[in-house]
Formats: sequence, structure tokens, C-alpha cells
Amino acid sequence: MNDNTNTLSSGTVATLVVDTEPYLSCDDCFERLDQFVDARVADPSHTDLEMTTHLAGCGVCAEEASALEELVRIHAAHGS
Ligand SMILES: [Zn+2]
Repeated sequence: MNDNTNTLSSGTVATLVVDTEPYLSCDDCFERLDQFVDARVADPSHTDLEMTTHLAGCGVCAEEASALEELVRIHAAHGS
């Protein structure tokens, strides 16, 4: 399997703006989910305060995140 669809990579300008409020909206969370999950799979100790805070409080996104993480892990396990 080699369908690495990366539709919103460069369009999503990763805002390095540190907000005072670590609680993302679901939209923001969703936008960063790919990146977050990739980083998590590559490095299990990776943390993102905003993401983890949101995921801790939002069951929908948390579920989405774990489903995506599983997918990414399966992909990673199967190699390129
Ligand atoms: Zn959410």
C-alpha cells in the first residue's frame, strides 16, 4: 500500500503562535491531528500540550486520534 495522501500539508501553515489558551477547537484539533499522530508514532514520548489537553476533554477527537494512530501504525508496520 502506497497511498500516502497528504492533502493538507503545505496549506496548513503550522501556526507557531503560542496561544494562552491551550484548549483548541475541534477544527484546530482536527487540522493538527495528522501531524500529531505522525509525531506520536515516530516518537511515543512526543507531547503537544494543546492537543493532549483537547483530547483529554473531547471524546470525539480522542476517538478520532486513536483510530488514526492505529492506521498510521499499521502503515508504518507495513513499510513504505
Ligand atoms: Zn474535539
